[in-house]
Amino acid sequence: MHLVPRRVVILGSTGSIGVQALDVVSRSPEELRVVALSAQSAWEPLIEQAREQGVTRIALADGDAAACAGEAWTGGEVLAGPEGLVRLITECDCDIVLNAIVGSAGLVPTVATLGEGIDLALANKESLVVGGELVTALAEATGAAIIPVDSEHSALHQLLACERPGTVDRLILTASGGPFRGRSAAELEDVTVEQALAHPTWEMGGKITIDSATLMNKGLELIEAHHLFGTPYEQIDVVVHPQSIVHSLIQLCDGATLAHLGYPDMRVPISYALHHPERVDVPVAPLDLVALGSLTFEPVDEATFACLRLAREAAKTGGTAPCTLNAANEVAVHAFLGGRLRFPQIAAVIEQTLALRGAKQVHSFDSLADADARARSAASELVAAFASA
Ligand code: NAD
Ligand code: MG
Repeated sequence: MHLVPRRVVILGSTGSIGVQALDVVSRSPEELRVVALSAQSAWEPLIEQAREQGVTRIALADGDAAACAGEAWTGGEVLAGPEGLVRLITECDCDIVLNAIVGSAGLVPTVATLGEGIDLALANKESLVVGGELVTALAEATGAAIIPVDSEHSALHQLLACERPGTVDRLILTASGGPFRGRSAAELEDVTVEQALAHPTWEMGGKITIDSATLMNKGLELIEAHHLFGTPYEQIDVVVHPQSIVHSLIQLCDGATLAHLGYPDMRVPISYALHHPERVDVPVAPLDLVALGSLTFEPVDEATFACLRLAREAAKTGGTAPCTLNAANEVAVHAFLGGRLRFPQIAAVIEQTLALRGAKQVHSFDSLADADARARSAASELVAAFASA
């Protein structure tokens, strides 16, 4: 047990991961204490959370929302914009930051956290997709730890903990396959937003749920795993496992394969990351293998779900390609959710953006911001062209 409560900042506290993280924290008052919270624009729920947690500093990325919160809330200070988010992290004397922001907007707070030498519980996989090399080099330079919250990577973190370097042959990421598993390309032509949002095993925010339906989520996770564990892409496999009970596996040089199992509940990996290296009780049912009866596995259909192939290709190309892939995906998913793009056009926008933008070397975080902005503008033009076709 920790001697004094660990001081925790939760970024994106109004989202799916953020709310579950607050549940985890509230169950461990002796070990964890929230000291700062942030959101994009949902200022009313954010103030409510701050009141409940006794937090006196919050940040809203949206300036107008921050102004509204500043007028309505007398309980503390409201910081505004991306700079406000950075100040929230660097000025609060915290022990760990949970980054549960969605999208590449999470990169700057990731860099601010690691730059200060603060440990990072990372749900925002996009940080590593966009800036993997620079982000991991920064963590190494300051000695800050990155503890993954993504369930597959949390599983791998736990599985790899006892293994010596050189003994791990392969990492195997499991994928649920999403709501459209088994469908042909023709059957995906006219799927609706509602159908794509109906994930079979996990309840998550809108963007990652669409990423799970296209399998881009697994593509982003492949890149995330490469950077977290330093594993070459040729040694990372993906297998479809519809029940989402096995969260990932590692294959060792002596023929042993180790798996991490549990019911799909994000409070388990969130708790692992916030308490690491301790473990505390999480109220999840013990795994009942007999009741489950069988666990099944099947290959990924990369011909139908082109996003995983595109992510693999961008990962191998390297440089700014993963950043471009991610930005184009964010634009395309946003357009799909807004009814401006059909489901198969998500992959088409990403593929064409990658072809238009090419890949350049990454010299600095500024070059990533530039690649991100240019990819967004190219992808937005493609979305507009698809919409008017
Ligand atoms: P969500 O959409 O439910 O919540 C996102 C949070 O980020 C909200 O609090 C929102 O206010 C904030 N936010 C959004 N845009 C922002 C911006 N530009 N600047 C600052 N804050 C911003 O998303 P989620 O499902 O909780 O996912 C969060 C992250 O965790 C994503 O990277 C996702 O891939 C990852 N993740 C989520 C799950 C899950 O079960 N939900 C599982 C694994 C990984
Ligand atoms: Mg995951």
